[in-house]
Amino acid sequence: MKTDICQTGHPVLRQRALALPESEILTDGCQRLILDMIAAMREAPGVGLAAPQIGVSLQIAVIEDRPEYLARWTPENLREFERVPVPLHVIINPELELLEQENPDEQAVFFEGCLSVAGFGALVPRAKRVRLRCLNERAEPVELEASGWHARILQHEVDHLHGRLYLDRMLSRSFCTQEQMSYWTEKPVAEVCRELGI
Ligand code: ZN
Repeated sequence: MKTDICQTGHPVLRQRALALPESEILTDGCQRLILDMIAAMREAPGVGLAAPQIGVSLQIAVIEDRPEYLARWTPENLREFERVPVPLHVIINPELELLEQENPDEQAVFFEGCLSVAGFGALVPRAKRVRLRCLNERAEPVELEASGWHARILQHEVDHLHGRLYLDRMLSRSFCTQEQMSYWTEKPVAEVCRELGI
């Protein structure tokens, strides 16, 4: 049975999730929750899932961009989006630092979707590079730097933990259904913006 994923409008998606006490990470309940989140992400399928999306207001997210998801993309798109496979990782109580934010031209603008806004997508500007400090599922401190699509996923998931959705950041004139999105994603983003009057 598919796990229900909370959809936009559900109050849990707008709450700031609680930080998880470090001592709770290794408990059976928490480990079970992480496994459930991984299963729900793969089932959807998605490249990331935050605990609030399954109704749990805790600062945990799981991320995985599998090689088979990239197989549908052209090499040009993969280069443009800077998308490479990302092995499964778990982030708990993350602190995110946006790098290269002084110059707005350094932001990447691409179509993005969300399992909690099922069936839709929009152009969302995001920082191209980020630094993240968090704990992993073994309660170990982790620091990582990410760029390209992985950086976008991290920003999207950390937003969920702060009660934010991409809807709060999107270029609203680009908001469209998933079916309609394939019309736009064939074009360079600059052309999409011109055509949509952005
Ligand atoms: Zn999402």
